[in-house]
Amino acid sequence: MAQVQYDCSRGNHQNITNSTTSPVGHEQIQLLLHVCKEAKKSAYCPYSHFPVGAALLTCDGKIFSGCNVENACYPLGVCAERTAIQKAVSEGYVNFRAMAIASNSEEDFIVPCGACRQVMREFSRDWDIYMTKPDGTYIVKTLQELLPLSFGPEDLKKF
Ligand SMILES: [Zn+2]
Repeated sequence: MAQVQYDCSRGNHQNITNSTTSPVGHEQIQLLLHVCKEAKKSAYCPYSHFPVGAALLTCDGKIFSGCNVENACYPLGVCAERTAIQKAVSEGYVNFRAMAIASNSEEDFIVPCGACRQVMREFSRDWDIYMTKPDGTYIVKTLQELLPLSFGPEDLKKF
């Protein structure tokens, strides 16, 4: 898999206010869109029947996929976005550039739930979330746009 290097200084939560990252390239976006669709096929969702896939691009150009994983004890189900983040963090990656999310919803772009937005926020306010439809169209927002006035790691350092 091709890897693309990014200046990810804005993705580093030590330096969260400096926005110097170049946009994600067209080729990399297409790859993210493909990977999140593929990840959706692994969704374990016998209760909601709502498969979701996610593809997380690190600043090193590595992509981690994720799917939703439900449980008979409903609250223990985990979203695709958090699955991808937990896979990446567990392998030592904490600087993220973008995430793409896919579902089967033809009507609406799939959006991350509030819990996932907060988990994304832990790692930066300033990365791009691509919310797709099955036809390949998408909208993209920064996490700052999806979760304004948020609480994050640097807020704990103020005390
Ligand atoms: Zn979620």
